[in-house]
Amino acid sequence: MMPRESTNDETLSVADAGRDVWDIVVVGAGLSGSIAAREAARLGSRVLLVEKATLPRRKVCGCFLNANAVASLAALDLTSLLVTSGAPAVRGVFVAAGRRQAYLPLPTGAALSRFWLDAHLSREATAAGASLLTRTEAHLVGTDDERCTLRLIRGAEEVEIRSRIVVAADGLAGRLARETQGCTQFINPRSRIGVSAATSHVPEGYEPGTIQMVVGREGYIGSLQVEDGRVEIAAALDPAAMKRWGPGETVRRIFEHSPLPRFEGVGDLSWQGTTPLSCRTTPPAGRRIFFVGDAAGYIEPFTGEGMAWAIASGAAVAATAHEAARHYSADLPRRWIAERERLLRGRMRLCRLVTQSLRYQRLTELNVTLLGHLPFLATPVICWLNRPRPIASGQR
Ligand SMILES: Cc1cc2nc3c(=O)[nH]c(=O)nc-3n(C[C@H](O)[C@H](O)[C@H](O)COP(=O)(O)OP(=O)(O)OC[C@H]3O[C@@H](n4cnc5c(N)ncnc54)[C@H](O)[C@@H]3O)c2cc1C
Repeated sequence: MMPRESTNDETLSVADAGRDVWDIVVVGAGLSGSIAAREAARLGSRVLLVEKATLPRRKVCGCFLNANAVASLAALDLTSLLVTSGAPAVRGVFVAAGRRQAYLPLPTGAALSRFWLDAHLSREATAAGASLLTRTEAHLVGTDDERCTLRLIRGAEEVEIRSRIVVAADGLAGRLARETQGCTQFINPRSRIGVSAATSHVPEGYEPGTIQMVVGREGYIGSLQVEDGRVEIAAALDPAAMKRWGPGETVRRIFEHSPLPRFEGVGDLSWQGTTPLSCRTTPPAGRRIFFVGDAAGYIEPFTGEGMAWAIASGAAVAATAHEAARHYSADLPRRWIAERERLLRGRMRLCRLVTQSLRYQRLTELNVTLLGHLPFLATPVICWLNRPRPIASGQR
């Protein structure tokens, strides 16, 4: 098992960030934010990337980069991240419901912890010329015809900064949607909650290079061995079960009847949680502000696509934000909304359909039984979800 390396590549102080007008401030150095910052910097914009956590940081995620995400990283010349991290290739998924199970081959993806990936992506952004502030929370104060004003907060230190454009990449729990005039954050009342934990105990019978999915009445769990040998266990759980038993016990109960290998002491791991998973920002753009990744909208993790959506939308927003910083016109928010829809709408619809069907346990068990005998029936859906899309790159 490799030790987890620690980095903090901050490039300026909070006070320095307030001295100038930025072309673009990107809030959130997750996947979508770091990619947007890197691509916009490569186009020539002066970019500030602001992250409230200390990098590297853990993040609730199943850590599966599907074939579409891997192809997008390649299109952005970022394959080296997968190579140097030693991310294991992932070629299949075991799905279990009740006592039934099926094995479905997948187009080759990769298993990489967010601890590693996000820290290295933020470094790619600074290598491209973006400035980075970590341990700093950004809030939108207001927007006028010329620029946006943000407040940066780090401990007792507070500074107001100005930017022509803001890219909101602040994730599921982000507050920028609520701070933007004319934007509303809609949370699906039936939404599940995300949780995750890592364990170095790999159960006997666990097959490296595969995802293990277990679906139960209280939600579903995915587990995957990542680059440092640990297994990341991530789950989408019913809020009522979470309230009653807490995350560890709910996960243990879902695993209880599963035919797949079980993790020792799963109930006692250190679980981290999210806000409700199914949410969207409407509209996902306002005056001089564009929303990307989970901050614009997310559904559920079952189909393993959130990172692919974050990479695609992060790369695509860079060109729009770069153009907006130079010559702002009122139709740019509308253009970004249409562009994001074109990129993601079909995939999000299918993800919604699949995750809604998982709420019917009998139906899921029937489907898993069928796929256990005829796994090729899932091939068209798997291929469609994993198909690469041409991706916008900032390199000209
Ligand atoms: C249980 C679970 C399992 C998942 N499994 C997978 C999977 O296997 N494969 C997959 O592709 N996707 C998966 N996803 C989805 C994936 O994790 C997300 O879609 C992806 O992380 C979105 O990236 P992002 O950059 O939009 O947001 P995030 O990665 O959430 O990044 C947002 C960043 O913004 C920062 N931030 C927030 N507010 C502020 C502020 N005010 N100022 C400064 N910084 C701020 C946060 O600290 C954070 O670093 C899973 C999600 C869940 C919940």
